[in-house]
Amino acid sequence: MRYVAYIGNLTRLTVELVNGDDPSDLRREFLDQHSIDEPPAATLAELLPALREAVAAVADSGPIEPINLLLEKYPPVIHVSTHDQGGEPHMHFARDGESPASWLGRSCAAALAHVICGDPDVTVGRCQADGCARFYVDDSRNRSRRFCSKTCASRTTVAAHRARRRTRLRDADSSGDFSS
Ligand SMILES: [Zn+2]
Ligand SMILES: [Zn+2]
Repeated sequence: MRYVAYIGNLTRLTVELVNGDDPSDLRREFLDQHSIDEPPAATLAELLPALREAVAAVADSGPIEPINLLLEKYPPVIHVSTHDQGGEPHMHFARDGESPASWLGRSCAAALAHVICGDPDVTVGRCQADGCARFYVDDSRNRSRRFCSKTCASRTTVAAHRARRRTRLRDADSSGDFSS
C-alpha cells in the first residue's frame, strides 16, 4: 500500500462503510495492517449515523458542523508511524489495536476533515443517478466523476437517451412532421 495516499485510502474506507458495502481488499488490508478487527454490526450501527452526515457534508461542501461533531466525539490522536520501523513514515490518527469504533471514528473524522478543507488529492461526491443514495470518492484528474459505479452511469445514459428519444417523437408528433 502506498502510504502517501493514506488520507485518500481512509476516505475510500469511510465512503465504503457509509455505502454499506461488503469489506473490500483495501479495507481488509488497511484494518489488518493496523491490528483492527472488522467492525461488528453493533459498532457500525453506533458509528454510521454521524459518519454518514459527515460524508454528506463533505460531498455537499458543507455545512462543517457534522465534521466537527465527529471530531469532538472521536478526537484524532495524531502521530507518525513506521509500523515498527518496517515501513514509510505516515500519519496515524488513532492507535493500532484500538477498538474498531474508536479507531474508525478518529481515522475517518480526520480524513474527512482534510478532504473538506481541500486537502489532499480526492473529493467525495453523491451519485447523480436517479434513486441512488451512494457516495463515491473522486480521484479523477479533473474531478469529473458523477456516479458511484459503472452500473449507475450506464443506467443514467440509457435513461437520458430514452428521454431524448421520447421528446423527439413527441415534437415530431405535435408538428405532424415525421421526416426528421
Ligand atoms: Zn499505518
Ligand atoms: Zn449510484
